Amino acid sequence: MEQNVKSKLEQMEVYASKHDVPIMQKAGIAFLQTYIHEHNVTRILELGSAIGYSAIQMAIVNPNIQVDSVERDDDRYKQACQNVKDCQLENQIHLFHADALHFETNQSYDLIFIDAAKAQYIKFFERYEPNVNVGGVFISDNLEFHGMVHDIEHIKNRNTRQLVRKIAKFHDYLLERSDYKTTFYAIGDGIAVSEKQKDS
Ligand code: SAH
Ligand code: MG
Repeated sequence: MEQNVKSKLEQMEVYASKHDVPIMQKAGIAFLQTYIHEHNVTRILELGSAIGYSAIQMAIVNPNIQVDSVERDDDRYKQACQNVKDCQLENQIHLFHADALHFETNQSYDLIFIDAAKAQYIKFFERYEPNVNVGGVFISDNLEFHGMVHDIEHIKNRNTRQLVRKIAKFHDYLLERSDYKTTFYAIGDGIAVSEKQKDS
């Protein structure tokens, strides 16, 4: 990896922990990169860019990779643009300042990475299904939500409990979707890989 990209990524990690930006954990990033490499993924859509950290980590797997990434927050979108520019990855990463519940695209992708508002995962999944190639995947992050999905009734904060219930519901939803083959991994904060079996 180029030295300047490496040090930029390190700076972003420090920034994220200082400012509570929920970037993907190292183990999850390694998992994504291995998946992309082993499956020859080239077209990626990411929902939830934050400051561009995971988009950059995916793009650097190889120069043929194209990442489209959607972020609704003004400030984060701007930071993502700057970070992508600093890494000289503008040719590979295309950032969209939009709400992923409304963003329109007719592109098709090998991988759609769902990492935006956790309560909306089913909506994101259904909205972008037409954009996933057969044999392509949705990869969803934070399916364990810090381990809380295993003990929902003991979560004291009501909003957190509601959110974790929705994540658990998404988990069950993925299992019901027999047109996708979903595998759950206890990596990072919990990752699901759902492979599209046929055109719906
Ligand atoms: N993928 C990033 C982390 C994303 S954090 C990484 O690992 O580096 C989740 C981001 O999703 C936040 O920045 C939040 O603003 C954004 N987000 C939440 N709901 C969204 C929506 N409906 N559309 C677009 N972005 C959304
Ligand atoms: Mg995440």
